[in-house]
Amino acid sequence: KSFKDLGVCDQLVEACDNLGWKNPSKIQAEAIPHALEGKDLIGLAQTGSGKTGAFAIPILQALLETPQAFFACVLSPTRELAIQIAEQFEALGSGIGVKCAVLVGGIDHVQQGIALGKRPHIVVATPGRLVDHLSNTKGFSLRPAKYLVLDEADRLLNEDFEKAIDEILNVIPRERKTYLFSATMTKKVRKLQRACLKNPVKIEA
Ligand code: AMP
Repeated sequence: KSFKDLGVCDQLVEACDNLGWKNPSKIQAEAIPHALEGKDLIGLAQTGSGKTGAFAIPILQALLETPQAFFACVLSPTRELAIQIAEQFEALGSGIGVKCAVLVGGIDHVQQGIALGKRPHIVVATPGRLVDHLSNTKGFSLRPAKYLVLDEADRLLNEDFEKAIDEILNVIPRERKTYLFSATMTKKVRKLQRACLKNPVKIEA
């Protein structure tokens, strides 16, 4: 099946094509149709499976339908992964003017605050730094968010981000879509899944 067969819109099919993504990966082929129907997703997938595209494509398609700032929040366990995720959003969204901000430790706070002031569509963050900006950066809030992604959820929980994730779940709207991706399905991941997903569809790479 092609991206078009999965229901991906022409602009994003073209973006995939420009990246050399000729055909969807397995996780993309499974995730995208459910996501476009508005379902929550649990994806069992490793890095290299194309999982980023599996959540970025449906989010960008929804953003094209109703453009707004702070549309999606993506949580990543590490700075490096957060940067890679933002790069894929930017690569897929370059033709449609998508703005991303990356909020991670070890990078200048003020600079990240300025990036938030530009009202990005997509915020990719490590949980601790996101909570930090929620309390300290004026005008930044997750109230508009329509999508939450928990990427590498098993690692998010291992890195002791539980408290920060709880704080984020307390302020992000309940009326949202949530995608949880994890390489392994641990007890802690299942608990997080119950706390933040509604009737999810389970998919595997
Ligand atoms: P990920 O598993 O999301 O970290 O993606 C791993 C790599 O696969 C990234 O470099 C992507 O650019 C690439 N990729 C993702 N989807 C596709 C696809 N459908 N066809 C070819 N390459 C892809």
